[in-house]
Amino acid sequence: MSAAKLSPTRIGPYEVVGELGTGGFSRVYRVVREGGSGFRKELALKILAPGIEPTQDMVMMMADEARIARHLHHRNIVAVHEFGEQGGAYWLLLDLVDGLDLRTFLGEQRRRKGWIPLPVAVEVVHKVLHALHYAHGRRDESGRKLGIVHRDMTPGNVLLSRGGLVAITDFGLARIRLKIAETEVGITRGTSSYMSPEQAQGRPIDARSDQFSVGIMLYLLLTGALPFPGKDDIKVMKSIVRGKYPSISEAGVPPSLADVVYQLMAPLAADRFPDALAAADALSRAVPPEWRRDADRTLGRLVTRIVDDG
Ligand code: ADP
Ligand code: MG
Repeated sequence: MSAAKLSPTRIGPYEVVGELGTGGFSRVYRVVREGGSGFRKELALKILAPGIEPTQDMVMMMADEARIARHLHHRNIVAVHEFGEQGGAYWLLLDLVDGLDLRTFLGEQRRRKGWIPLPVAVEVVHKVLHALHYAHGRRDESGRKLGIVHRDMTPGNVLLSRGGLVAITDFGLARIRLKIAETEVGITRGTSSYMSPEQAQGRPIDARSDQFSVGIMLYLLLTGALPFPGKDDIKVMKSIVRGKYPSISEAGVPPSLADVVYQLMAPLAADRFPDALAAADALSRAVPPEWRRDADRTLGRLVTRIVDDG
């Protein structure tokens, strides 16, 4: 593949051994760091805007992501180890999640004429909500709330490992995304399909905006379709603001689960859950506990199958 040929073999002190993914503004590589006595550790390295000169804004936002990550130590959040620069290239060094992202997972499952088992869907979203609740509540050294809102809670930012781990990533880049969209430097824009109505309208947002995005994700996992589909960002945002979408009860989703989706996706933030933890609790009450017992293992098995099939 020509893309592989163009891939660097070294970034800073790291040896590049593969490509993991591409987002709107970055490419993520699998890299190796060599330590003493033959110690080799595999990590992920996210390089900013490969192939173009990053703008000052983009660099500042990546630095922001690193700054935010300093406060995030949670098993369901991808750890950031370093914000580096060499010869005009900027990168974040991250823990490697050996698997794939939820977006790729769903695409692959659909290609295999499958989807995501309901207990696995619930388990994944439950973990995402826990991670978000932790991030939302973080405070700085003086005890002031940091006001972290992910702003881009989409399946591409939920990583799944062969071992059944679920970890969210890509904190702090959402604002870059909006800036770039405005200045139109010709890079693919992030999808608008997961925006809350307040976000779509450019109104002030708080942590409850992430709940709406998670609601859309859960809707997709449960029904196989987006509530506000479409390729035209403006049209999608308008339909989010209008707030009309097909009822999920018709998709055979248990009413208890449907209620959680509806509350996450309440048009007014005040009608959502008080926080992401309350949403997570409601979600676990909505299904019998034994449903979720093997969900991690099932997830790991499905991820492994997809990754190994290539
Ligand atoms: P962007 O801000 O450009 O969207 P992301 O951080 O979301 O960048 O990364 C883009 C993709 O790269 C992800 O959807 C995922 O497939 C892959 N990826 C990112 N971080 C990791 C990681 N730590 N381990 C494994 N894969 C990753
Ligand atoms: Mg992303």
